[in-house]
Amino acid sequence: MTQTKILLDETEIPKQWYNIVADFENPPAPPLGPDCKPISPDALAAIFPMALIEQEVSSQRWIDIPDEVRDIYSMWRPSPLVRAHRLEKALGTPAKIYYKYEGVSPAGSHKPNTALAQAYYNREAGIKRLTTETGAGQWGSSLALVGQMFGIEVRVYMVKVSYGQKPFRRSMMQTWGAEVFASPTDMTEAGRKILAEDPDSPGSLGIAISEAIEEAASRDDTNYSLGSVLNHVLLHQTVIGLEAKKQFAKVGDYPDMIFAPCGGGSNFGGVAFPFFADRAAGKDVRLVAVEPASCPTLTRGHYAYDFGDTIGMTPLMLQYTLGHDFVPPSIHAGGLRYHGDSCLVSQLYHEGQIEAVAVPQIATFEAGVTFARSEGIIPAPESNHAVRAVIDEALRCKESAEEKTLFFNLSGHGHFDMASYDKYFAGELVDYEYPEAEIERALHNLPQVAAG
Ligand SMILES: *Cc1c(COP(=O)(O)O)cnc(C)c1O
Repeated sequence: MTQTKILLDETEIPKQWYNIVADFENPPAPPLGPDCKPISPDALAAIFPMALIEQEVSSQRWIDIPDEVRDIYSMWRPSPLVRAHRLEKALGTPAKIYYKYEGVSPAGSHKPNTALAQAYYNREAGIKRLTTETGAGQWGSSLALVGQMFGIEVRVYMVKVSYGQKPFRRSMMQTWGAEVFASPTDMTEAGRKILAEDPDSPGSLGIAISEAIEEAASRDDTNYSLGSVLNHVLLHQTVIGLEAKKQFAKVGDYPDMIFAPCGGGSNFGGVAFPFFADRAAGKDVRLVAVEPASCPTLTRGHYAYDFGDTIGMTPLMLQYTLGHDFVPPSIHAGGLRYHGDSCLVSQLYHEGQIEAVAVPQIATFEAGVTFARSEGIIPAPESNHAVRAVIDEALRCKESAEEKTLFFNLSGHGHFDMASYDKYFAGELVDYEYPEAEIERALHNLPQVAAG
């Protein structure tokens, strides 16, 4: 029998992160300030430590991982690469399916990979408090976890709809010592503005980001930390793909296609970017971002300069967007309810270097249940998007009798999402129509910037 778990030794935890910008044909478009001129890195210094700002704008191919960060990585890394023999058999596919399992971190997802690095650089810069937003609670719990390790207080603005859906994620954050508020709150100007317009607002990542930034910008001892989207976040997540390359080399295999769920792009970038380096060198590997049909940023959005938050506090970034004031339907994959996307992922998609597909909610849970009943692990609703796309491709391979090697990132487990699975089993989940009218409206509000 061929191997199931492909494991690395702790000494094989990467010593450097991979910066994809070094392999870009065209340099990334700069973020713009309110005057539509490129912002200086200093403009970000009110909310980020300089080390992270430098990483944000760096074009250096390799960036050293501090020893202290590698040391804490060893609590859950290297994560396993698993050959999904039982799923292959259940599907009757000739394709080989592998997944990298990021649910082994204490918080249960890939997000601590960057939370740890961000907390480290903030502590080095003398920061005592961090504010952040969270959707399903995966990011908030990751920052709460590492905040404790570095003696940093963490305050989390949690999207209101998720605050109700995921009460145990809130308990986790509180167990690790963080303060958690349902956003929109009446504690910030941004929150009060949204509540005045819609007292029943379910909240969104964009709104929660506005609240967290507003607080961080108003206090010297406080910085802001973002769980996805930004270049430095994707940089930190490349430990996933770098390990996976070593693991594939151990078994003498290499993926033809790589899939990852895509909200802000951090786990997609983390798993796919190190393989993009091979693609840039001529290797044939297809990279596929999988998003919800109800929040189809890459597949149905515009490539334009837009804000990262709802109120318009962030710099303007060139990205695929559904409009910064688009409030996505309340799907159960809270981590994918974001109007925009990483600039790096967006540029690669725009240049035809990567692919994207959108999948409807019910089909993602169906795929997750198939996965759980063959591989055992119950995936997070976000991860189910990649599971869906991989199963679809494996079934296509069955039709065409192709022995492709498929690889996906199982970005987290779903142990705190069982209420969503209950809804699926009770037949209470709905497939939201592509919210065309709402997206059209939001796209009308894009800031006017002459691109290029
Ligand atoms: C947050 C999250 C995602 C989506 O965020 P990305 O930045 O696109 O990776 C996907 N899966 C899980 C488990 C998450 O927690």
